[in-house]
Amino acid sequence: MRRSYSLAVFVMAALVSSTVGGQDSAGVRKRIAQTVSSIRLIDTHEHFWTEAERNAKQMNLFQLLHYVSSDMWADGLDRTGSEKVFNDPSVPLEQKWEMFNRHWPTMRNTAYSRALLRAAKDLYGVEDISAESYHALSEKIQAANRPGWYAEVLRKRAGIDISICDIGQAGAKLDPAMFRAVIRLDEFTLPADIIPVVEKRDKVTITSLADWEAALDQAFVRAKEAGFVAIKSGLAYNRSLNYRDVNQTEAEACFKSLVARRGTISRDEWRRESLPLQDYMFGRIAANCAKYNLPLQIHTGLFYDTWRDVTQSNPSLLTPLIIRNPKTRFVLMHGGYPYGTELLAMAKNLPNVVLDMCWVYVISPSYAYRFINEAIETVPADKLLGFGGDYQVPEGAYGHAVMCRETVSRVLADKVIEGYWTEEEAVKYARLILRENAIRVFGLPLS
Ligand SMILES: [Zn+2]
Repeated sequence: MRRSYSLAVFVMAALVSSTVGGQDSAGVRKRIAQTVSSIRLIDTHEHFWTEAERNAKQMNLFQLLHYVSSDMWADGLDRTGSEKVFNDPSVPLEQKWEMFNRHWPTMRNTAYSRALLRAAKDLYGVEDISAESYHALSEKIQAANRPGWYAEVLRKRAGIDISICDIGQAGAKLDPAMFRAVIRLDEFTLPADIIPVVEKRDKVTITSLADWEAALDQAFVRAKEAGFVAIKSGLAYNRSLNYRDVNQTEAEACFKSLVARRGTISRDEWRRESLPLQDYMFGRIAANCAKYNLPLQIHTGLFYDTWRDVTQSNPSLLTPLIIRNPKTRFVLMHGGYPYGTELLAMAKNLPNVVLDMCWVYVISPSYAYRFINEAIETVPADKLLGFGGDYQVPEGAYGHAVMCRETVSRVLADKVIEGYWTEEEAVKYARLILRENAIRVFGLPLS
């Protein structure tokens, strides 16, 4: 009796937990996952080697590590020495494996490693990365290293229509059927070495700040002509994102003093003493983005390498600059990891801010989950870009895309099951963040 009573309670409880407003929660998860997996992604951020560059390399497992290397550096691996070993084709695979395997057991848990494992399994049919498999896996990677592999991995397997690449001027020559590109103009904030280059390229003489600003203007004209879809700034790697409001007189004095002493002061002195000029010129870049109708992508949050101070890239530091440039469209990258809630507060408050989750799912899927969960509740749906691989190799973008679709499906379904919104609203949101918002923000000729 007692037994059948507890069985009845168990069955009742199971029924209650698997139905939401009369719906079956497993069914909700399944249908949402199916829809999310069918959405053709717009991938907002990559650093892919061009396919020709990739095809020219002798490929193996150790050429695919990318962010896994960052975790190895954080785990104590010497960066310079290991890069020599991993990138030198004359070093035997066994020696590379020996170096790699000193860290692999303690870093295979990270999401960077999970993305690599997923790519190895799905794209090369190798279940685990181990002493038994690294040789065969490396052979398979090299066997696939031929023209057409990018289309196979990105278009067919990852379901990506367009990847927006940050690879410098080479980006202008990418195949428009699969790629678009952004360009960096950060050099204009730190003109120490670049003035002679610009003088030669533009056939101009630069003696004043006005000349320098005119050269920046020219760079924008050329960026438009070349078809770049945004300006990217990675300056967070060099300095704080706190760009002060510096007037032209102060910037001019700084420019003159630095140019007069060019060649006589160290890079560090340049960096320190040029701060007013950097602040001023970044303000000019932001203003020009409005003038030339290009979004400004800014790196915020985590750094990919070691010995960094993440507080200098807290996105909140950008708020005064963003308020001073209301007509500029700011795309704040990487979910501001770990400053997600601050970033969401900015997007909720500032009409000219769009958030980009490029890189985020391989930093931490659970952070990505929390970020989207909170974004749904706080930020209009057209202000979130939900996927960017941020890899050098398409295998990385593939692993990342899988993790993205899984996380997005889970959070959207959970919100349906909680009763926050309907299934229809959830899938509409998925289409916006994974595709339609990026098409609009970067002006892509797609529907
Ligand atoms: Zn990047």
